[in-house]
Amino acid sequence: MSDLSAFDLAGKRIIVTGANTGIGQGIALSAGKAGAHVVGVGRSAMDETEVKFAGLSGSFTPVMADLADHHAAQAMIDEVWADAGPVDGLVNNAGIIRRADALDFTEADWDDVLDTNLKSMFFLCQAFARHVLAEPGRSGRIVNIASMLSFQGGIRVASYTASKSGVLGITRLLACEWAGRGINVNAIAPGYIETNNTAAIRADAERSAAILGRIPAGRWGEASDIGDAAVFLLAPASHYMHGAVIPVDGGWLAR
Ligand code: NDP
Repeated sequence: MSDLSAFDLAGKRIIVTGANTGIGQGIALSAGKAGAHVVGVGRSAMDETEVKFAGLSGSFTPVMADLADHHAAQAMIDEVWADAGPVDGLVNNAGIIRRADALDFTEADWDDVLDTNLKSMFFLCQAFARHVLAEPGRSGRIVNIASMLSFQGGIRVASYTASKSGVLGITRLLACEWAGRGINVNAIAPGYIETNNTAAIRADAERSAAILGRIPAGRWGEASDIGDAAVFLLAPASHYMHGAVIPVDGGWLAR
């Protein structure tokens, strides 16, 4: 498969969680440029993403759901399937972070992060796969957004590191279970990307300069950098990829 259509998402319906801002918005826009019908899922208004979609070859449909509750997350998949029709791809991007020393970490900061980043992510995959496998001949793509902290420890982010290590493990497990059944499950590990999530780090001039000095590419990542990698994992071109994790980090992990 070597023609450019192998990188095309024309006519594909793709769910992107957390599509109102940041990396999720970048993924939605990249998929829209590749022709996808994007269903953007989140708990905040998605007006900005809708406006940015104008003129793209794909389309954008916002759907409201709070993904902290895995029952609500699964119900959302069922509703999209019933209302919009079959879904070709799921991008699990929505995520949160809590910061505190390990000695002071609270149960709430542990549970909130694990519930959203890992538990709901798993049950979204399960709901999506049940629909795909119920239709003989149907295939599906899942892209999970991991992190550098899927590989590294980090500091003061215990629940986040646990969740993102878990995202990587679950990606590999699901890839093994479903590779022979028409579902590709892969992950992207973003480096330092300019989003709301990292605004506080960028506002700290000393810390920001130290990070920049360690990124071989010499710049922070943009949401579109992750979006373009996600398009590849959603497109026919990556059909033989199962359980892979692609670092998109300007060379951070390679250093
Ligand atoms: P943002 O904080 O900018 O965006 C997070 C998104 O997740 C928002 O759309 C947010 O919605 C949504 N979200 C969070 N909780 C819920 C929920 N309960 N229900 C529905 N939606 C929810 O972060 P980023 O764009 O930076 O991060 C996106 C993903 O990328 C995350 O999984 C993050 O861990 C990962 N990542 C980011 C990196 C970076 O450098 N930025 C590096 C490595 C990984 P709302 O606006 O309503 O809160």
